[in-house]
Amino acid sequence: MDKKEYSNGEIAIIWQPKKCTHAAECVKRLPKVYHPRELPWITPEHANTEELIAQINCCPSGALTYRRLDSATE
Ligand code: SF4
Repeated sequence: MDKKEYSNGEIAIIWQPKKCTHAAECVKRLPKVYHPRELPWITPEHANTEELIAQINCCPSGALTYRRLDSATE
């Protein structure tokens, strides 16, 4: 299990479990999207793309990244 992807239709959140240090910055910043005790644990449809990107950029380990599914650049 190297990485998993979760899409809201505009971006795909990429989570690499081996990099995750479980600092829980994601859960603190967007608790409606990140649910560590549920599956799927990331539900990107519960925030807009700008909120998701701002949070992903705060992941301290680099476990969370994203790629755009539309034509815009990152
Ligand atoms: S913020 Fe990043 S390192 Fe911290 S729990 Fe979330 S994915 Fe893991």
